[in-house]
Amino acid sequence: MSQMSPDTDGITPALTRRDDIPDSQWNDWHWHMRKRVTNLGKAREWIRPTPDEEEAIEKTAGKYRWSVTPYYASLMDPDDPDCPVRRQAVPALGELMDYSGAEVDPVGDMFYRRTNRVVHKYPDRVIMLITEACPVYCRHCTRKFHTTDVDGTYFEKSEGEDFGEDLRYIADHPEIRDVLLTGGDPLSYRDGKLEEIVSGLRAIPSVEIIRIGSRFPVLLPQRITPELCEMLSRYHPVWLNTHFNHPKEITPEAERAVDRLLRHGIPVGNQTVLLRGVNDDVATMRTLMTELLRIRVRPYYLYHCDNVTGVSHFMTSVEKGWEIMDGLQGHITGFGVPQYVLTTRLGKIPMSRPSYRQTPEGLVLRNYQGREMLLDDSVYPLTETRVPAPGQREGGR
Ligand SMILES: *Cc1c(COP(=O)(O)O)cnc(C)c1O
Ligand code: SF4
Repeated sequence: MSQMSPDTDGITPALTRRDDIPDSQWNDWHWHMRKRVTNLGKAREWIRPTPDEEEAIEKTAGKYRWSVTPYYASLMDPDDPDCPVRRQAVPALGELMDYSGAEVDPVGDMFYRRTNRVVHKYPDRVIMLITEACPVYCRHCTRKFHTTDVDGTYFEKSEGEDFGEDLRYIADHPEIRDVLLTGGDPLSYRDGKLEEIVSGLRAIPSVEIIRIGSRFPVLLPQRITPELCEMLSRYHPVWLNTHFNHPKEITPEAERAVDRLLRHGIPVGNQTVLLRGVNDDVATMRTLMTELLRIRVRPYYLYHCDNVTGVSHFMTSVEKGWEIMDGLQGHITGFGVPQYVLTTRLGKIPMSRPSYRQTPEGLVLRNYQGREMLLDDSVYPLTETRVPAPGQREGGR
């Protein structure tokens, strides 16, 4: 019956809101990095944690890294533990449970690791894991063993090693024409260090495109400064893929960051991970994809969530992925539809359900509404041997 909110009862401190912070601080990415939420006390400045969240924060401490930028924290619903931003950012007890088949590295990055930082899985392109640092340690990170697992990091003590060996490997393999900088988040480096890496790659004649995988546009868009964009644009062609998972993440700040990248000639794509309780429904995904197009971000991949140790509670079935793809394909424009892939030791496997099926009568095609038609194979032959000679069809069946 009391109208008193927990904000004013004198026991729980009032929550911080975006408007409490002066623009000069809010717009400064260094301020956000310094003010990151890293413990329960700081989390209470932004949200009212549930007992489960409190327990998870305590029990994951010392096992998994945790931090949340004030910017990303401000997107969390303070009262709703099911908030999709909160689910991605606040530890959950599921991270500590045993799930069958879970592995720290199910996609085999370690198996394909050729130098300290270079993972060479496909002949023509490599990823370079250049850091383990991220502005927010996403709970669903597919490289959790590398970014957030306090013991099991990929680098052990080698993160500070110079890049000579990595760049030499790439230069010695001229079939590599495409280098994707990832981590961790490459934009965690200051501009000067990043420029050393990017210019080192650009000096290798066989490297055609440089790609950056970064979640800063989502987790701390203030990092996308004019100086950063100007620097990157001196090493074109540079592409950037980011990682929006929910429409709530598409804010005016994110939109400005994307716009700045695009104006500097850096195409921006997006990789979404299909996450239980975050974006595993058609309506959310459709809004996400159309909102991405509105801010001129091109959807690229929809990743099936890997069975990674500490992440398995986010997994959905493959059927859920099909349902989502069926809800996108044809319902929105083709370039708003990402490719649904599952990452394995054999690489990324396209997983979309075919929109046709083989029958004794021929191929039956299905449109986005589920309507079907038989493809006339006298008009569209399936095999080369049945391609009619010119004129042969004249006066045909
Ligand atoms: C994802 C990935 C790439 C890049 O794949 P694209 O399909 O070209 O985006 C390259 N190497 C590794 C090891 C990867 O996991
Ligand atoms: S920003 Fe990317 S690499 Fe870093 S924790 Fe999040 S998903 Fe993992």
